[in-house]
Amino acid sequence: MKIIEHLNNAKNTLFSIEILPPLKGQSIQSLFDHLDPLMEFNPPFVDVTYHREEYVYKDRGHGLLEKRAIKKRPGTVGICSAIKNKYNVDTVPHIICGGFTREETENALIDLNFLDIHNVLLIRGDAIKSEGDFKSEELGHRFAIDLVEQVVKMNQGKYLDEELLNANPTDFCIGVAGYPEKHFEAPNLMFDIQYLKRKVDSGAQYVVTQMFFDNQRYFDYVNKCREIGIEVPIIPGLKPITIKRQNTMLPRIFHIDIPQALSDEIEKCKDNDQVKQVGVEWAIQQSKELMEFGVPSLHFYSMGKAEPVYQIASALF
Ligand SMILES: Cc1cc2nc3c(=O)[nH]c(=O)nc-3n(C[C@H](O)[C@H](O)[C@H](O)COP(=O)(O)OP(=O)(O)OC[C@H]3O[C@@H](n4cnc5c(N)ncnc54)[C@H](O)[C@@H]3O)c2cc1C
Repeated sequence: MKIIEHLNNAKNTLFSIEILPPLKGQSIQSLFDHLDPLMEFNPPFVDVTYHREEYVYKDRGHGLLEKRAIKKRPGTVGICSAIKNKYNVDTVPHIICGGFTREETENALIDLNFLDIHNVLLIRGDAIKSEGDFKSEELGHRFAIDLVEQVVKMNQGKYLDEELLNANPTDFCIGVAGYPEKHFEAPNLMFDIQYLKRKVDSGAQYVVTQMFFDNQRYFDYVNKCREIGIEVPIIPGLKPITIKRQNTMLPRIFHIDIPQALSDEIEKCKDNDQVKQVGVEWAIQQSKELMEFGVPSLHFYSMGKAEPVYQIASALF
């Protein structure tokens, strides 16, 4: 089923999750072990992130450095197919601009279509660590909206090769990313929301937000989106804090604020078991309020840690 159908048909708030592919060399069993307990809460869909390559420099002696591209977490498409078949849930592969030419994107979408996967979350991706700013491939896309346009064209049967005869239209449901605390490159929130609107006007059917810890940010964001005419579902992304270091690490990596009440509680904790408990309780309170607001789904960034998400889901569903 399409994600938008799950959202439109739901009578109550849904439970959904995002997972990361295992590190290269690890088995898929680690993912299944992660997902097995969470399946108790019947997530209608599972997102699988995409990780582009990073560059590492190998010392080859005599002052020579060899630059090598390494993909640490490959396998998004295969994982989506494996999860879909094992658990009979819909899977949403993330597709990014970075590192892909348009042709490679098209081929990935063809693979997904053949695998009977008809949902995608389209995002730009971040700059790789050695680059300051995001750079697209010469024949790739610069912004997520360009990906949206490519998928919409494929849904109309228009592939890159215009001479292709009788090309089958694909039928992808398209999700995109949104940022209640604005994307870090945008000069202000309204600038960012206007570009979100363009993604929606181009064919995105729903939005998933970056994690946030202050629901008011999400409520304000949804109101601003509605005011400028974004009418699609906006799914809140939630992440339970599990270790003390995340108090400073999450704001640095994801450009989000941690409310003072939460960061004070985390700082008071003597060990990470206590931090996990604080994180779980905060997420439960956040979730209850969001459910009262009527959010379409609570989307948890499990980030390799199923147990806190299990505790939260047990308290809610
Ligand atoms: C739910 C979610 C899932 C994610 N999953 C992944 C993942 O699997 N893999 C991964 O690598 N990253 C992932 N990310 C991170 C994401 O790739 C980064 O946040 C990235 O920096 C921006 O992606 P975007 O799709 O929001 O970009 P865009 O929508 O392209 O926006 C990027 C920036 O450019 C601005 N902008 C947009 N269009 C234009 C334009 N035409 N002209 C000028 N400015 C413009 C926007 O305001 C914004 O500041 C995810 C993020 C979220 C919220």
